[in-house]
Amino acid sequence: MTKDAETKIALHEMTSREISSALEHNFDTVIVMVGSIEQHGPHLPIGTDTFAADELALRMAHKLGNALVAPTIRPGCSDHHMCFAGTISLRPQVLLEILRDYCRSLAAHGFKKVVLASSHGGNFAPLETFAPVLVREFPQLRIVHYGDMRGFMDVWRKAVSDLGLETEKAGGHACLGETSEMLRLKPELVRKDLFEPGFIGSTKGLTSKILRDGIEVVTKNGVLGDPREATSEIGEALLEAMATHLSDWAKKELQA
Ligand SMILES: [Zn+2]
Repeated sequence: MTKDAETKIALHEMTSREISSALEHNFDTVIVMVGSIEQHGPHLPIGTDTFAADELALRMAHKLGNALVAPTIRPGCSDHHMCFAGTISLRPQVLLEILRDYCRSLAAHGFKKVVLASSHGGNFAPLETFAPVLVREFPQLRIVHYGDMRGFMDVWRKAVSDLGLETEKAGGHACLGETSEMLRLKPELVRKDLFEPGFIGSTKGLTSKILRDGIEVVTKNGVLGDPREATSEIGEALLEAMATHLSDWAKKELQA
């Protein structure tokens, strides 16, 4: 058996026998993404980060070549979005327990490497705290986690400016970037008639304020940036840039 772009790599779409066979053929790495179920302005579904996480994980796995994709942990840590209806937020300790059970299960089946990453900013700090705990508890697994939120945002901004667009419009939440990604992945869920700008400006120095006091103190409509020029093509470029960045990082990290 060989695995190419046509082969199934998402665990939840595979049969148990297919997974055993993949393991026998050295598919020993599993990508575990954490998403979010949180407000994304007037125009995007609350599953936006989770849809992006699903796609990033699949693209990363293809680029890594010997990796499968675990079901995205759909809700993440989103307390700072709770003032908007629909947001479902995990307490950090619950996320840790879920990650523990993912690792426990994957180790039991013989996987050797776990790549942890997040498509949502609010999960970065919890992952940073929990990754060393998981590394200690599962010595049979090589667990790596992507913790560079600034690096993540830099890739995002560079991809936007490479397209000749203003980086401030891609503020990082329900913005030009995320809206473009959803136009690429789930156009039927995007309310194009409800595009409106949110907070425009540098979010540098605002992240801790948003996490502490809630995103509503910075933006009344829940948008950081401006979605009005979003297109599916921009979304494709951003997803590919992020997936390339994450898979390059994972390759290096797993070899170290
Ligand atoms: Zn988002």
